[in-house]
Amino acid sequence: METNKTFTMIKPDAVANGHIGAILDHITKGGFKITALKYTYLSPEKAGEFYAVHKERPFYADLVKFMSSGPIVAAILEKENAVADFRTLIGATDPSKAEAGTIRALFAKSIDANAVHGSDSDENAAIEGSFFFSAFEKF
Ligand code: ATP
Ligand code: MG
Repeated sequence: METNKTFTMIKPDAVANGHIGAILDHITKGGFKITALKYTYLSPEKAGEFYAVHKERPFYADLVKFMSSGPIVAAILEKENAVADFRTLIGATDPSKAEAGTIRALFAKSIDANAVHGSDSDENAAIEGSFFFSAFEKF
């Protein structure tokens, strides 16, 4: 299992609010190399599949609705200790609790519209990267 890759999405709120460039800049300056990148859209079916681990949670329906509400940017990122370091870079799930200077503190409005996704394990980073990218699209 690779420990130097993670997967991220710039969520519909941050795309709609014009933050794609600023967030990618923040990621690059944080020491992450972008090894795959795609501007795309998650249908409700695809969003449901992506977040299937949360199926039983009370916020699942709202999460699926939100994630399919507009286009997203998907990316695979490379850095030593990528998963943990990227979670530090983005900050807490609830932006009101996110540390100052983190991506969610800077660009997120609420726990639903929280600007970015970051994988929570090496295993999920690999699964999520392959959800969006074929072998020919990963560099
Ligand atoms: P992500 O997986 O999107 O990176 P996360 O790992 O910080 O976020 P998870 O627990 O995996 O948080 O939850 C997935 C998403 O579901 C969150 O990003 C958030 O938008 C939403 N969510 C999580 N907890 C709540 C909650 N208590 N109320 C509303 N929405 C929530
Ligand atoms: Mg998560």
